[in-house]
Amino acid sequence: MEGLFGDPTVILLVAALGLALILAIYATVQHHKLPTLSKYRELHPTAKDRKGVPTCFSCNTTNIYLQNGQNGFAQVHICRICGTKLWRS
Ligand SMILES: [Zn+2]
Repeated sequence: MEGLFGDPTVILLVAALGLALILAIYATVQHHKLPTLSKYRELHPTAKDRKGVPTCFSCNTTNIYLQNGQNGFAQVHICRICGTKLWRS
């Protein structure tokens, strides 16, 4: 008797699920390298305008957009001018 794991379709399916899991973990790890907004303010105390609106620490613009989270991951705030990923929310 070959058993369930002798079936090439099952092996392929398990491999695909394993790969998807690795990619999900990788995306999560990458995401958590970004600070939260309060941490961002701590890290870049000068990265704000006169009203206290957070700015890009790299090019000092307030032109920041919110990229929607993919696959259930949280959102990322990205500088529209230089493309730097700034903080997560
Ligand atoms: Zn920038």
